[in-house]
Amino acid sequence: MSTTVSPAPDNSGGVPVFRYSLASATGKVTPGGWGKQVTAAELPISQDIAGVLMRLEPGAVRELHWHAIAAEWGYVVEGQVRVTLFDPEQRISTEDVPAGDVFSFPRGYGHVIQNSGTVPATFILVFDNGHFSEFATFSSTDWLAHTPRNVLAETLGTPESSLAGLPAGEVYIVPGPVPPPLAETRPATAQLLAANSCAYRFSQQAPERYAGGTIAIASQLQFPLSSTITGAVMTIDPGAIREPHWHPNASEWFYVLAGTLQVTVFASQGHARTDQFAPGDVCYVPRGLGHYLENTGDAEVRLLLAFNSGTYEQIGLSGWLAANPRALVATNFGLPETTVDAFPGGTEYIAARR
Ligand code: MN
Ligand code: MN
Repeated sequence: MSTTVSPAPDNSGGVPVFRYSLASATGKVTPGGWGKQVTAAELPISQDIAGVLMRLEPGAVRELHWHAIAAEWGYVVEGQVRVTLFDPEQRISTEDVPAGDVFSFPRGYGHVIQNSGTVPATFILVFDNGHFSEFATFSSTDWLAHTPRNVLAETLGTPESSLAGLPAGEVYIVPGPVPPPLAETRPATAQLLAANSCAYRFSQQAPERYAGGTIAIASQLQFPLSSTITGAVMTIDPGAIREPHWHPNASEWFYVLAGTLQVTVFASQGHARTDQFAPGDVCYVPRGLGHYLENTGDAEVRLLLAFNSGTYEQIGLSGWLAANPRALVATNFGLPETTVDAFPGGTEYIAARR
């Protein structure tokens, strides 16, 4: 551990546990892949965001389904998936999404995810409702299994006998062959949404650089379909600090892709909690609570963040103090004006080790 890291403040109570080890959860395992989730059931503080870590074997399909109470946003960690969205205007959007890129399914819209690559695909899903459950989605096989065969036969224009092979219940993930290239798939009978409607080439977006790290933010400005979820990838150098700040408009959820860090959350009335994070862990910070992140290891920290708003907002400590009159800040904190003068003039955002 780096000697520049501040000692953990005492955990004075009043802040519930805000860490969950998603990667080491048991999850739901099938022959085609698995899903692990963190919802308000696993992490009670996380009332308005839920997350899933999923892996699909090549060709495997996370079946046709929808979610009644949450929009979905996904980030591909490794491999490649093909996502297809179907909207109420009877339009579709189909995209291959490689590692580092993102996709979005608005609340209630039909969608499906298939591994369209030749190696296993791993991806992170974020939902804008903590009470969502990945294991209680509206799955097409579950629905058809609970619909009389004569209704299905009439709806689909086929004899009942031809539907004998339908699954008896939800398949969730089904193994299958790797699909042909997008250009060679069956032409859509539905109208196509504009290119890249349900996917965004996030890996090609240049990050903002700060003294101690970088951040790339994909809000609805960059990815219009994702109107209720903003995503970001942040890197923090060894010893660097993502400065104390808060988000006025959204709760924050992140998954640790690499590195080790320490997170402290301040909940007012003297309440604060610090916890340690490693790869595979999830952190949740409720809207409005103060927090900061410190890289406690010798390697770069890499995080996948999500906020439950299509607009990104943050207020950082250094910029706030710099924007107020020197004499007022000196009086507020009982500090000499010369000390206040030496504070950074703008926002630190990610401060380098000093
Ligand atoms: Mn889904
Ligand atoms: Mn934050």
